[in-house]
This record gives sequence, structure tokens and C-alpha cells, in this order.
Amino acid sequence: MTQMRLQKFLAHAGVASRRASEELIRQGRIAVNGKTVTDMGVTVGENDTVALDGRLVTNKETDDKIYIILNKPVGYVSTVKDQFGRPAVTDLVKDIQSRLYPVGRLDYDTSGLIILTNDGEFTYRLTHPKHEINKVYEAMISGVPNRAEAERFEAGLEIEDYVTSPARLEILEIKGENAVIRVTVHEGKNRQVRKMCKAIGHQVLTLKRVSIGPIALKDLPEGKWRKLTPEEVKSLY
Ligand code: URA
Repeated sequence: MTQMRLQKFLAHAGVASRRASEELIRQGRIAVNGKTVTDMGVTVGENDTVALDGRLVTNKETDDKIYIILNKPVGYVSTVKDQFGRPAVTDLVKDIQSRLYPVGRLDYDTSGLIILTNDGEFTYRLTHPKHEINKVYEAMISGVPNRAEAERFEAGLEIEDYVTSPARLEILEIKGENAVIRVTVHEGKNRQVRKMCKAIGHQVLTLKRVSIGPIALKDLPEGKWRKLTPEEVKSLY
């Protein structure tokens, strides 16, 4: 939970509206870390305890495991903090008090499906190389790959110091000099799709992730997110 104003914490915990929570503070009914507070400027974080009339207020959402999918726009980093101060995917998720972390990465210039969660074990499992979950991307690339080039995706490509696992390249549409392709990979190496396309002589112009395993982006608008259902979470294990 990030640091937040006491009245906001109380409102999020379902104690009362923000306005009514201010009234509770004013009336001296709220204690933080055992001390009554009547000041409106107090903020609380994950290590603070908050009580109303001597009874502990817990914020259920901060204790629960949360899993969401977000349609990342281009122009956001998928790390929590960026050394250049660029916007982060977590900036797009309002109303969730838990500290969320992206599961895996999407490049700054890649859009599409990214999962965010506060469940470290889930993140570890999903990003572990032995967890061979398919990730599907749609890309616009320069030129139109021929059959031999597409077959190199299946065979495994030498990229820098490693050989990729078998992947798939399908042509969805030819648009003038360019092609719209679908790429399926189950690894998650840095800029892997871009490097694989480059290795067969095509430059990636746009790149979007459309699914991870059974979870698809479908019509989730860009910049928007939704919680995964418990069934969807289970389906990823
Ligand atoms: N492959 C890439 O090249 N970039 C991404 O963001 C994801 C996969």
C-alpha cells in the first residue's frame, strides 16, 4: 500500500465516505499507531495501524491478492519506476491501493496485454523459463516474409548469444510494402520479437501483445484495465 491520507484510507476500507471519515477524525475517534489523531494532514502506509473507536480497521483490498490485465499504450514503461521519469503502467491503475508489479516486461514502444499483480509467487512462476506459456503478438513489419523466413522462426533463430525456442510466424495481412503478422513465442527475452524479425530481415514497425496463454486482450480499450476472474488466474498456472 502506498502512503495515503488517512481519510482516503478510511474511505477505501469502507468505513465511511471521505467526507464522513474527516468528521470521524475531527471527533477524535480515529487512532494511528495507538495515538488519536485529529489533524487532517496525516498520511498512513503499510506499516501503520489504524483504529476506529479502538477497533482495528483493515483494508481488505490491501491484504488480498490482486491480478489485473491492462492494455498498455505505447509510451509507458512496464517497470514500477523509470530512471528517465517516463510514465509507468502502474500510473494507469487507479483505485487499487496495493503495490502492483508488472509480470514480465513490454517495451516502451510495445502496446497490449500486461498482467499486474501483488502476488510475487505468481510472478515468479509465470516468468520462469520452464513455464512454457504462449505469448501472442501482432506486429506490422517492413516487407513481406517468405516461407523460408517464416520457417526459420519454427527452427529456432540465433540471436546474439542464444538460439530461440521454436516459435511461429503467420502472415495476417499484406499492407502495401508491409505485412501484419502474428508471432507466437513462449520465451520472454529482451526485445525478442523485434530481434527475431530483424534476424530474418524485417523491421518491426508496431508491436502489440494480444494474449498470454488463455488470457486474451479482446476489446479491452487501450489504457484500461480489469481484474482477472479467479478462473482466469487458475488457468495461468
Ligand atoms: N518482444 C519484443 O521485442 N518486445 C516486447 O515488448 C515484447 C516481446
